[in-house]
Amino acid sequence: EAHRTSGSTIAAIATPMGQGGVGIVRLSGPQSLDIAEKLFVPGPRFKGFKAYKLHYGWIKNRNQQILDEVLLAYMPAPYSYTREDVVEINCHGGPAVLEGVLEALYHLGAEPAAPGEFTKRAFLNNRMDLTQAEAALEMINAPTQDGALLARDKLQGHLKERVDSLRDSLEKLKQELCLAVDFPEEDLECLPLADLAQRTNSAVREIDQLLKAFEQNRVFREGALVVLAGRVNAGKSSLMNALLGRERAIVTSIPGTTRDYLEEAINLDGLPVRLVDTAGRRPTRDKIEMMGLETGRQLISRSDLCILVLDAGQEPAPEDLDILEEISPGKLVLAVNKQDLVSGTPGWVQDLKDKGLDLVHTSATLGHGLENLTRAIRSRILGEKRPQATSSLAPNLRQKTALDKARQELLLLADEARQEMPYDVLGVRLDYACTFLDEITGRIVTDDILNSIFENFCIGK
Ligand code: GDP
Ligand code: ZN
Repeated sequence: EAHRTSGSTIAAIATPMGQGGVGIVRLSGPQSLDIAEKLFVPGPRFKGFKAYKLHYGWIKNRNQQILDEVLLAYMPAPYSYTREDVVEINCHGGPAVLEGVLEALYHLGAEPAAPGEFTKRAFLNNRMDLTQAEAALEMINAPTQDGALLARDKLQGHLKERVDSLRDSLEKLKQELCLAVDFPEEDLECLPLADLAQRTNSAVREIDQLLKAFEQNRVFREGALVVLAGRVNAGKSSLMNALLGRERAIVTSIPGTTRDYLEEAINLDGLPVRLVDTAGRRPTRDKIEMMGLETGRQLISRSDLCILVLDAGQEPAPEDLDILEEISPGKLVLAVNKQDLVSGTPGWVQDLKDKGLDLVHTSATLGHGLENLTRAIRSRILGEKRPQATSSLAPNLRQKTALDKARQELLLLADEARQEMPYDVLGVRLDYACTFLDEITGRIVTDDILNSIFENFCIGK
């Protein structure tokens, strides 16, 4: 296949900066081996460069001094990450070594790689489509292993296949329409409008499935927003600390210390959670505290889950009852805290249980009930399902936006078909829908789209 990238050879450090067992400097482009060869001093059993083999030896710096002991891999086009000639030099993972090698490569004519440029070249050379390039970024950024599993299927191209097959079916539909336009007198019956409507609807349903997956996977990309609420002194900050397993939130026995809110990221058994400790909902006239309270309410309303922390030794306060009123049970977990201070189950707790609310007994100070609380949070948010079973082809925001637009065109098309609009008008709708789908895979792509995607990558990827 034709290479669409320029003939330049780029180089970058592919591993994170800092000390590590191994660090990798990567080259891509036609000069990769020529440049690397000038710096490589082969070890004793070297018999020339062989494709896809590791070569043991030493690497020189730009002053021709031997710098480090290395393993060099040569991956000729087109069977490489970028589909260009690629050389990877495995050095010791120290910044001085890696920078020394990189500097020498630049000195010999390699150009500094821009963020994501290796992956961008892989895309431009048709090794992957845009959904796969974005999946590579999603894989790198996955906050938990479950997140990585979700990126995997897209990295393999399964989302691309889905979008392309949808596109192909629309393309085929369009060809049938065009036949009817070109040979109206012979072929007018070739595509009844009822068929058109039905096929349009099934395309919309296919898009809807992907959009649903977007919503389901949102929490794995962004983290679920979980808000701790409840009256002052119920133990919100203590529970937050207990869940974090370390002392972070400010805990105090003076009511009202948690004024604004604190947010911490935690990994609850693979579920990334943004845990927020709100101000208590004590009625107040203090302006600053009022603001804190408002933020708390807003947070709860846009949260994925609210944990209402109750003090087992006290009946729920009016502000707790407000929350019980306002928040739907599906978004609520009750933590009856300070369980260590009471014996048995108070009547009001039993009443809440009888209402079928999700209720967990905890003692933040003793660390009791935390596993149950974690389980309750996970199952409320995930509905017991492991993510990959349902939605490993979830689009990202960019892809979702394009899907929304394609869907919109198809709905308009269905409408226009019902109104028995001319076939060529309907064909234009199909064109638009296909264009939006092509934006997802990158079959049609602007520099702006490319730049906005690849600028989020790190250098060396
Ligand atoms: P917040 O205002 O809801 O954030 O409550 P804090 O976490 O600041 O806790 C208020 C007080 O209750 C502190 O003195 C905590 O040590 C205490 N406390 C919190 N949880 C428990 C618990 O489970 N058992 C007992 N005995 N005390 C607790
Ligand atoms: Zn607090």
